[in-house]
Amino acid sequence: MNKKQALVLGAGGFIGSHLVKRLKKEGFWVRGVDLKYPEFSPTEADEFVIGDLRNPYLVRYVIDRRFDEIYQLAADMGGAGYIFTGENDANVMHNSATINLNVLDAIKDVGVGKIFYSSSACIYPEHIQMDTENRGLKESDAYPAAPDSEYGWEKLFSERLYMSYMRNYGVEVRIARFHNIFGPEGTWTGGREKAPAAICRKVAMAEDGGEIEIWGDGKQTRTFLYIDECLEGVRRLMDSDFTGPVNIGSEELISINDLAKMVIGFSGKNLKLKHVEGPQGVRGRRSDNTLIKEKLGWAPTKPLREGMEITYRWIEEQVKKLKNSNK
Ligand code: NAD
Repeated sequence: MNKKQALVLGAGGFIGSHLVKRLKKEGFWVRGVDLKYPEFSPTEADEFVIGDLRNPYLVRYVIDRRFDEIYQLAADMGGAGYIFTGENDANVMHNSATINLNVLDAIKDVGVGKIFYSSSACIYPEHIQMDTENRGLKESDAYPAAPDSEYGWEKLFSERLYMSYMRNYGVEVRIARFHNIFGPEGTWTGGREKAPAAICRKVAMAEDGGEIEIWGDGKQTRTFLYIDECLEGVRRLMDSDFTGPVNIGSEELISINDLAKMVIGFSGKNLKLKHVEGPQGVRGRRSDNTLIKEKLGWAPTKPLREGMEITYRWIEEQVKKLKNSNK
């Protein structure tokens, strides 16, 4: 086989299923692994293994050769309603850490061209994100460490794990810290969905003249990155000599209230915001893209509005399908 071989772990998830499509377009042969198939469209992987990466035997079964590229995206994760309630902490830490330990242990013996690890903006210390006008999180802000969730602590541990395997076993790693990735074919209901998808769903389901619920006062701010630009960043990082960790995120800061108003605008409905108690995470979070520009000569540029409108239309379609199936 002359094609470059890629392994995507977490290929049934949101980013993983989009990444498989992108790698196929680029001419890779792709094996995907996940607990489940992608929910919204068939996988384009050449091979897809359903299995649990917490099982070291399964991991050795799927890492049976020296892949040119491995993308490790599998993690036990979700939005604020999953990560910040505390109810899932033990599972989040145990499951994701076990996957990363298993993967690196297998790679140590078989080898790999390069492995990508998806870390998160959730590793940054809580105390520098108390202001809605966040100045931007630089990669060096990670230490002294004080993430606001166990999810963030696990990501930080695993970043260090990947770096250790690079130091001690020569594994070529690439690490990115994703900042709120969104787009079509992402989880939009069920409890693990994140703010952009949850807001789109609430707006699409609301009756004209009604209201939608927003967790907290809605003044908390974030930056959101469209899936295509996330993948562009990942592929550029993999093709570069830069190890990271590097932010892959947008610098376009928006409050949750303004995000909701933007989506309401797409819907053409007249809706009010109703603020209710709920998990919110930090007050303000923004990516600082100085390092990615310096190392990759590239940074995301797509306006938030464009990606949000595409995402809203997709979720509106899902809501319509759901309503029709309940008739
Ligand atoms: P996702 O939940 O859609 O995808 C993760 C996939 O991992 C899921 O399909 C899940 O079934 C799979 N998985 C979990 N445990 C597994 C196990 N034991 N064995 C096999 N598969 C397992 O999430 P996503 O949004 O696609 O995120 C991908 C990666 O990027 C994750 O590591 C996540 O932590 C990281 N990340 C995402 C964002 C974001 O905004 N989406 C932000 C920061 C970091």
